[in-house]
Amino acid sequence: MSGSLGLEANTDVFPVRLPHYTVRGGIIYFLGKPVYFNREAANVLGRCRGHTPASKLMGAEDVIDDLEERGMILSLEAPLAARRHRPAAEDNKGLIVFSPHCDDAALSLGALLASRARDTLITIVTIFSKSRYTILDGLSKRATEVTRIRKAEDRFYARLIGAELAFLNLPEALLRGRDNAMELIIWRYGEQERRLKKQLKLAFARLIAGFTGAKLFFPLGLGHHIDHVLVRDAAIEWLLEERRLANEVAFYEDLPYASIFNDLRPALEFIRSCGLETEARLFDVSPYMEVKLRNLRAYRSQIAPGDLQHVENYAARLFRWHGSTINNNQAQGYCERLWFVKTSRS
Ligand SMILES: [Zn+2]
Repeated sequence: MSGSLGLEANTDVFPVRLPHYTVRGGIIYFLGKPVYFNREAANVLGRCRGHTPASKLMGAEDVIDDLEERGMILSLEAPLAARRHRPAAEDNKGLIVFSPHCDDAALSLGALLASRARDTLITIVTIFSKSRYTILDGLSKRATEVTRIRKAEDRFYARLIGAELAFLNLPEALLRGRDNAMELIIWRYGEQERRLKKQLKLAFARLIAGFTGAKLFFPLGLGHHIDHVLVRDAAIEWLLEERRLANEVAFYEDLPYASIFNDLRPALEFIRSCGLETEARLFDVSPYMEVKLRNLRAYRSQIAPGDLQHVENYAARLFRWHGSTINNNQAQGYCERLWFVKTSRS
């Protein structure tokens, strides 16, 4: 087993503080509210920046365990600063993930991205980054506040995996007057969405300039959330109009929706009915599943433990059902899957 030797020899970890926490005067604050009055813990937390190993944090092993249990830090296997991407080869042109909201790339492709981050230039483009959606109780639901927190989570995640990040700063459905479940999943395009679709197509063209040959990943639109479907539909129209695109394009399975609804056929048939043929590619991401689930904890304002369970279950199910096709003798494992658009050349 290559790699395991190194891990056994070096068990030190590099704790990093989640962006929601601040430390002042021996008190730990969560989004501005005091939550933990413990001078020692506050001192250590203040120094958890992802580049000092736990062993150097003033004999603070118990404190580190405590902070981790409280969800205030993540323990990284390598220092944060050393995680810059290093494009490996000439033919490695990077990949761009179009993420409808601030957490979708991480939820849907977090293990694959973690596995590629070392040698691939990864760019995440978060489209509807203006938001007032959060699962946190007691937090102001004002868009400016929620948007600020969600962007901080997205930036933190990008740093964790060494990815570049861009925000399109478009308003999510809730901010466009679609403020109940029916408006989010049973809907028709309104004038606003038609306009947004045009804007998105222009943005795709602008964003991929300079990324000739990069792989482009768009959501499949599973779960029918209007923002996800809007990104998919804009991508399809744009691909059909851009006949000579030099980029490989794929649609990813939106999580946790893929795990809950479990039926991809309508989305795949829709793409086909538009004139695009796709083929599945399965990625064995078993060694990176733990890292994916850990990194998802960056999104405190969005992701509940139940969502993590959906993410894990789905990846395990993909492996169980299709793992034999990737020539793997393991009994258990995890997969992520993408649907690549076939070109006339392939
Ligand atoms: Zn989303």
